[in-house]
Amino acid sequence: MPKLMEKNIKVYRGPKGIVYVMDEYCKGCEICIEFCPTKVLVLAEKFNAKGYHPPELVFLDKCSGCDLCGMYCPEFAIWGEKIKGGKKDDEDEESKS
Ligand code: SF4
Ligand code: SF4
Repeated sequence: MPKLMEKNIKVYRGPKGIVYVMDEYCKGCEICIEFCPTKVLVLAEKFNAKGYHPPELVFLDKCSGCDLCGMYCPEFAIWGEKIKGGKKDDEDEESKS
């Protein structure tokens, strides 16, 4: 996953999903917040270097890892990943090989 090569990625790990946020890429448009089906995202109080409020995940247990936030974010600043049986999808793949 190339995005994980980036530095300064915030990782929010809940029981069902993981959300990754790169604050400095965010433009504060709130699309991710609007389209999150479980309404677990809010804008952080802090600003990034561009003067925007990035999202933060406030209800870890409710995030499904559906990645709708990632599909809609125009800046590729956020994405989600499902956890199955306590493991991420790619961890499942690794365990099979
Ligand atoms: S992965 Fe899905 S449930 Fe989790 S924050 Fe993103 S849109 Fe919301
Ligand atoms: S959709 Fe992307 S750019 Fe818009 S607030 Fe969410 S993370 Fe920031």
